[in-house]
Formats: sequence, structure tokens, C-alpha cells
Amino acid sequence: MNPSTSTVTAGIDLGGTGTRIIIRGEEGTISTRTVPTVLFSNIEQSQRAGALASHVLELVPPGMTLVSLGIGASGPVDTDAGVITNKDTLECFSFFPLVEALRNHLQVKVSIDNDAVAAVLGEYHFGAGINSKRLLMVTLGTGIGVALLENGRPFRTSNGAHPEAGHIPISGNPAPCYCGLHGCWETLASRSWLQQNLESLLPGIAFEKQDLNFYREMAAQRDEVAALFHRYGNYLGRGLVTLLTLYGPDLTILSGSAAHYYPLFKTGLEQALTRSEAYAVNTLIVPSELGDVAGALGATVIPSLN
Ligand SMILES: [Zn+2]
Repeated sequence: MNPSTSTVTAGIDLGGTGTRIIIRGEEGTISTRTVPTVLFSNIEQSQRAGALASHVLELVPPGMTLVSLGIGASGPVDTDAGVITNKDTLECFSFFPLVEALRNHLQVKVSIDNDAVAAVLGEYHFGAGINSKRLLMVTLGTGIGVALLENGRPFRTSNGAHPEAGHIPISGNPAPCYCGLHGCWETLASRSWLQQNLESLLPGIAFEKQDLNFYREMAAQRDEVAALFHRYGNYLGRGLVTLLTLYGPDLTILSGSAAHYYPLFKTGLEQALTRSEAYAVNTLIVPSELGDVAGALGATVIPSLN
């Protein structure tokens, strides 16, 4: 057998709600499984890494050898120590040496990074960002996640952390934010803002049960709905223009559940990004190609970065 076809890598997207595991071979995804993260909270901390390792091993087909595991985790991550420090949404995998425990169980290279970094790596290697030299990804979820790759390598702050660009203040926004500042971008441009405002404009209609076609129809019927999406695009653009100005990416990918509505807020977004010719920034923006799978697929690449 050709040795290159018999080795596989594993990736885990560790989120507050779900834990997605992917096994990837030379030709792409071989097997995948998503487990509710709460299942791990219900077992002793000392058993959690072992339980996670068992799920990984069960997905490796007979005759194939696992050579590495990468993890993309929600929230703050100490990538050197291999410890997650997310007391808010991922407490069951936080504050203990998860990476070391997994290494002991699996006897392969194990590395960890933030989930935004994992997702942008997924798009860069397998999705909408292939061939990008400087790739920006903005994830519109409960907050706003931002990750930047320079020739496939993650941009980091001087202390090795992941930049929390959802917390850049934007002008004219007095809202207090849990980070301690006022006026953070994510208080006005996350999916949460869009959801809250649509639900108060359209009482009784649950945001997560609808789709693009539904809101496209509503926007055609009611000017306030069209105006709300336009305003959302504008808020999104007011933070994004700062990132485009500073970093000048050749491509920006929008992901997260609010990105599905890009056709409805595109005009508002473009309006906020348009400048005179001499100051124009590259506004090439595309939606994510991999969607929810980007994090676990990208996580398979993390061990090759260091
Ligand atoms: Zn903030």
C-alpha cells in the first residue's frame, strides 16, 4: 500500500454546543461525527480527554494510521500551554492541560488554536480562500470573530494571542460592552444584534427558524425590514473598513449564521466601505464556502503550523 494513503489527520472543532470531529486523508474527509459538548460536562474532568480521544480513534478506519490531531476551540486559548481558558462557554474543557492529556492518550502530535484561526485555515486550504495571499475572515455569530492569514500563517499579537477585533470601538456607538469598553463593533454588527432587532420588528417570528428566502420576501413587502438589513450592513462596514484599511487583505470571507443574509445587507455594507478613488480599499468579499465544517477541517492543519 502507498504510505501516503494510509495516514490520516484529525481535527476537532470544540464549541460550547457541539464538538465536531473530522478525519482527513489525502483525498479529503474520510469520516466525521458531531457530539453534544454537554456529554463531556457530565463525566469527571480526569476522564474527558480520554472520552474525546476514544471518539477520534473510533473514526479512524481500520488499516489507517492517525498521525496528528488539531483542535480549534471557542474562546481564549493558551496555544503554548495547550490550555483553554473559556469559563463562559467551554468550561468543561478549560483550565486543565487538555493537549497534554490527548497526547498521552493518542501518542501523536496534538496542537490547539482559537476556533476563528481554525476556520480561516479551513477556508484557505479547502474553501473560498484558496490562493489568497492575505486572507481576512469575519465570523458573525454571538459576537464577531476575526482571523487573518498571511500566506497561510495566522497573524498574532506580540504575546501570541489571537486579536479580538470584534472589540474595536466604532464611532457613534455608546453601547457598553462586557469587555469594559463602550461602542464595540460586535455590539452592533454581530448576528445577535440582527436577530434581536428582526425579532422585535417581526414579533412571533423566530430568527433561527427562517432562511434567506423568507427575509427576502419580508424585505420586499416591508420597507422597515429592508431598512434594518441595510443598517446592519452599514454597522458591519463601519468596523470592517478599519480592518481593510490597516491590513489590506486580497480577500475577505464572511461566515457565521448572519452571513447567509449577505445578499440583503450587501448594499448597506458597500455603502460603508466606499471611498474616493485615491483611498479605495480592496472590498472583494465572498461568503464562506465550507460553512460550519470550516473549523474542524482547518483544525486538521494546525499541527503543521508549528
Ligand atoms: Zn468589547
